[in-house]
Amino acid sequence: MSSNAIVVVSWGEGRDGLPAGAVEVLTLGRKVAAAAGADLAWLVIGPASDKLAETAGQYGVASLERIEDAKLESFAPDTLVAAVSQYCESNNPKALLFNQIEETRQIAPRVAGRIGGGVVTNVIDIDASGDLKVTATAFGGDTNVVYELSGASTFAIAVNSTALVAEPAEAPTNPAAESVSVDLSSVEERFAVTQRPQAEGPRLEDADIIVSGGRGLGTPENYKLIQELAAALGGLPGASRPIVDEGWIDSSHQVGLTGKITRPALYLAAGISGASQHMAGCSAAKVLVAINKDEAASIFRYARYGIVGDCLEILPELIKAAKS
Ligand SMILES: Cc1cc2nc3c(=O)[nH]c(=O)nc-3n(C[C@H](O)[C@H](O)[C@H](O)COP(=O)(O)OP(=O)(O)OC[C@H]3O[C@@H](n4cnc5c(N)ncnc54)[C@H](O)[C@@H]3O)c2cc1C
Repeated sequence: MSSNAIVVVSWGEGRDGLPAGAVEVLTLGRKVAAAAGADLAWLVIGPASDKLAETAGQYGVASLERIEDAKLESFAPDTLVAAVSQYCESNNPKALLFNQIEETRQIAPRVAGRIGGGVVTNVIDIDASGDLKVTATAFGGDTNVVYELSGASTFAIAVNSTALVAEPAEAPTNPAAESVSVDLSSVEERFAVTQRPQAEGPRLEDADIIVSGGRGLGTPENYKLIQELAAALGGLPGASRPIVDEGWIDSSHQVGLTGKITRPALYLAAGISGASQHMAGCSAAKVLVAINKDEAASIFRYARYGIVGDCLEILPELIKAAKS
């Protein structure tokens, strides 16, 4: 790969077998590479689906690069940081684009620190017609800021893929496949995960239907209405942060900036006001339905369908309808 390339960095498998958010970040990467007159590379680390090459071609990737190592069979942050940093030292890319999932927060800033580059997180757009102008959300999505990145260093950019739409390239490519050689023999992981909070069962991030409840439910007992409706619709129950903090439901159900970033086909929010920190986790839903007794609640600004009324009366009716 030529130096100065735009490199999308991915690992892990999302719901379609590809790394989560990869196609959305590749779409942005292709636009950035075209504007910067640079190559688009896709660096995929660890085990990966056999759909990679086909997807790389569909999304206009010039070179598909793989780092495989027994130490990268599952998420291993110290090893990943070492792998990406060594890759940068040999290839000198202009920018690394990561999908911003929880794990990225452990990787992107450390890679930037190690290679002497810069890092920007919460990115929603990049203009590469001159110096890189990177638009990112700030204050929990309340405002946008634009960073101008100049200089010769490599920039690590964590992209909020839920703000993007995947678009295959008009002219598909036939990417060169390369195995990247890195020496990870001396890297030791400093932390071991001994227990995962939710090792089994479907994940909120992968759900097609989510029914979420908030403080408007009134009491912890009423959260069962959310669980019942979610089950009747074949979806998963979600929650706003205050009711997680109050212990009505565990934190694996929290949607938002400090919870899960979801992308369902249907998101139904009952008794949730629509604070920006909550919307950061559900605004990419294809259809958002809100039930709130306050017609001025900000959630209605985002909702495709809004029901003004008492969720304690409306949820039982929806459960009946869904069951029948
Ligand atoms: C750094 C930071 C990070 C945060 N991260 C998150 C996060 O990840 N996720 C998150 O959710 N929040 C997060 N928050 C909190 C966020 O700012 C809001 O406080 C929170 O989302 C509000 O939760 P809520 O909508 O359930 O409660 P409220 O804001 O109290 O809203 C309750 C809503 O219910 C309605 N209501 C009341 N009774 C009924 C009824 N009977 N029927 C119908 N509607 C009714 C009310 O009109 C109101 O709109 C974060 C805040 C900060 C500062």
